[in-house]
Amino acid sequence: MAEKRTQASVNYRLGGTHCGACKHFYNENEKTETGECRLVEGVIGEVLGCDLFERAPGPKGNRPANAQPQQPKTGMAGLVRKKSSY
Ligand code: SF4
Repeated sequence: MAEKRTQASVNYRLGGTHCGACKHFYNENEKTETGECRLVEGVIGEVLGCDLFERAPGPKGNRPANAQPQQPKTGMAGLVRKKSSY
């Protein structure tokens, strides 16, 4: 297998295309928003992208850039309720 490219060499960045919808992205743990890329080295974030982006077929390729895994409600954040209006 060919060596992976560095993130800097493929203009890895936030904005534009996103790894979560790219056919080269894979994530063994669906609960995290980071995974790996078959072409680019290092930890890869779902919401970032690069010049090698190729849209994945099916639902994965239509995944919105702001798709985030559900965060567990822990601590006080899970206890805060909205004030009701009177
Ligand atoms: S090729 Fe680029 S856009 Fe596609 S998963 Fe790898 S880093 Fe992300």
